[in-house]
Amino acid sequence: MERYSPQDIESKWQKKWEEGKVYKTEADASRPKYYALEMFPYPSGNLHMGHVRNYAIGDVMARYKTMEGFNVLHPMGFDSFGMPAENAAIKHGVKPADWTYSNIENMEKQQKKLGLSYDWDREVKTCDPSYYKWTQWLFELFYKRGLAYKKKASVNWCDTCGTVLANEQVIDGKCWRCDHEVHKKDLSQWFLKITDYADVLLKDLDKLKGWPERVKTMQDNWIGRSEGLEFNLEAPELDTSIAAYTTRPDTVYGITFLALA
Ligand SMILES: [Zn+2]
Repeated sequence: MERYSPQDIESKWQKKWEEGKVYKTEADASRPKYYALEMFPYPSGNLHMGHVRNYAIGDVMARYKTMEGFNVLHPMGFDSFGMPAENAAIKHGVKPADWTYSNIENMEKQQKKLGLSYDWDREVKTCDPSYYKWTQWLFELFYKRGLAYKKKASVNWCDTCGTVLANEQVIDGKCWRCDHEVHKKDLSQWFLKITDYADVLLKDLDKLKGWPERVKTMQDNWIGRSEGLEFNLEAPELDTSIAAYTTRPDTVYGITFLALA
């Protein structure tokens, strides 16, 4: 019996699929639409088995819906902007753009080898000016409408690396990359004023029929609106008072001690 040779068979058909653009999606009002969107990977350089599992499941869905008669839009892209590219550039001494684009190229090759049914003409790379001009456009709208504002906030800072670190990059108070002591630094940063929408977001959670209570509670907590009052605790020994907030003012009279973090 002849052995299955993936190198011959798969590369032959994948080439045909690519040349014939068999996964290209055109607008077609005569068929129902189906949008199959998996997550865009971060271009770390190589796909791992977690990617393969995720994208194989999405691919099965997209193909199944196509066979059911849907006009399936199945795009792919790369979530490729941000700190990991900066960190890799520092570590390897290369430009962030060179590093990012060569990783993307390699991962596209791997995705194509897997035979995934993407419409590559619709590929999105978030590090590309053709994409981020839209996030800039959005930001400008936020800014003009008073919904983007600047203020100082404290971040994790490593003096040796000269970078901000995410909480998970601080291990036992030290920088994950160079092992130096991390300290808090006040930096001027941009914020979006989502608090303006807290009430409407909360109210509209009721419209989510059939959603698990657990997920709605998570959303509720994430929005984080709470009603309470601010009050001052007098500390005569220190000749000062300490501002505090509580959602349960009725329990304030039971306070026996105060811990300041
Ligand atoms: Zn460091």
